[in-house]
Amino acid sequence: MRETPWPPQQHPCHPEQGPAPSTYHAAAPSGPSSLTLVWPDTVTRVFSVLLRHHFQAYAVGGWVRDAFLGRSSHDVDIATDARPDQVLPLFSRTVATGLRHGTVTVLPEPGETGPPVEVTTFREDIGYSDRRHPDQVRFTRQLEADLARRDLTLNAMAMDVHGRLTDPFGGLQDLRQRRLRAVGDPSARFAEDGLRILRTLRLAAELDFTIESQTRAAMIRHAALLQHVSRERIGLELQRIAAANWLNIVADLAEGPYLMVLPEPLPQLRRGWQECERRSAGLRLHRPLPFNWLDCEPQPRQQARAWQQTAASLAVWGWAAKVPPSQLVAFCRLLAWPQRWGRWAAAVATAMSDDCTFWPEQVWRRQLYQESEQHVWASCQLLDYWCGGGGRTSVYRQHAARQPLRRLSDLAINGRDLLQLGLTGTAVGKVLAALAEAVLSGVVPNEPDALLAAVPLATRWTAQAVKREDLEHGRNHA
Ligand code: ATP
Ligand code: MG
Repeated sequence: MRETPWPPQQHPCHPEQGPAPSTYHAAAPSGPSSLTLVWPDTVTRVFSVLLRHHFQAYAVGGWVRDAFLGRSSHDVDIATDARPDQVLPLFSRTVATGLRHGTVTVLPEPGETGPPVEVTTFREDIGYSDRRHPDQVRFTRQLEADLARRDLTLNAMAMDVHGRLTDPFGGLQDLRQRRLRAVGDPSARFAEDGLRILRTLRLAAELDFTIESQTRAAMIRHAALLQHVSRERIGLELQRIAAANWLNIVADLAEGPYLMVLPEPLPQLRRGWQECERRSAGLRLHRPLPFNWLDCEPQPRQQARAWQQTAASLAVWGWAAKVPPSQLVAFCRLLAWPQRWGRWAAAVATAMSDDCTFWPEQVWRRQLYQESEQHVWASCQLLDYWCGGGGRTSVYRQHAARQPLRRLSDLAINGRDLLQLGLTGTAVGKVLAALAEAVLSGVVPNEPDALLAAVPLATRWTAQAVKREDLEHGRNHA
């Protein structure tokens, strides 16, 4: 086992002297010239308690990787030689997350900062007959055996409380070279668990790292094993790929067989990736997609949420591949993504296909009303991105600046005003909608007096519409 002293300066504390300090300032081995390592409070306590009881304790996995990359990690895993039944009595607030697999979650004490910490016993995984989960796990006292069961070299490093790194598979070197490489024999590792294929693609998208050639060859060879991974899990990884920069892996996705494991409409989306690449002529593939500026301007109160960025990714694929919008909704259902993501993506893809450059004023007014406004804004940004220039977003801004009404609640009169005029029941909502329509058509200005004067006409109009509906309804039933 190779032990890399890190950080190189004097270690700030010894386990016997009580808890480690929360912050280390250390020379980073790669990336930025200096790195501040911050152990969350709960992690400091977990280290301290385990070491005081003469157990080994190491931060492992994504937290170590992300610390070197200067990324903040959302979860912290601690590996130890203590068995779960030895860990449980050491902490007052725990969850027995997966005792069979050796995992106990230690919850923060009141006032502590940081997320819950997963404490997992060093283990070896034996047999993967379902191509996804180990048949059996065997607890061990060897850190290196535990690291050997992990997927990628940069996820197979361990750091002790002093910041010293244990790196038996050259993860740090791979990290420096921005390379994803399987631990041990890549073919055997992907044959054990197909999910590792998607985890590797997802990390390539998130970190913009390349996939080492033998690792990639093994991923392609074993792509069919993705059929053993649940749809939910595939959906989760694809969601993270979409939310990161999937262009980093567009060639892998377009050429690789990964997506063929799912039924329609994925093969179409696969062509969509190729089409995106063709349309951009390779020019923009090295730039991150602009989804972080999907900021719903000019309505800053409507910040784009993370899911909208994922849905925007889907919209681009759908638009490029000419996938019917209903299939985008089906795609979300297939991957257990919320249905509204699919509806949002379908609406944006539809707006992209129906290029706003050619819309007359009246169409703009309706498109900038209610929900559709954000779909149109997203479509303008995405089209400008793909086709170059800022034409559509600037046309959008011009129309948005003179839009008479954004939503029903912006109407200069409301339901109470109509109740005072003697309207009741469903007529109130219908008349308000008719008045909004009149404002959008430019027939009535959005001003209280003008709207109140238009109420009798709007009431007659809605009553006639109801009558027409009833007649049609009667005809249909006749
Ligand atoms: P992130 O938390 O950003 O999703 P991560 O690498 O920390 O990335 P986790 O799911 O938190 O992912 O897993 C923690 C560690 O457990 C990983 O870094 C890796 O060492 C190991 N691991 C997770 N899933 C697998 C797997 N399917 N096969 C092998 N090792 C795995
Ligand atoms: Mg993690």
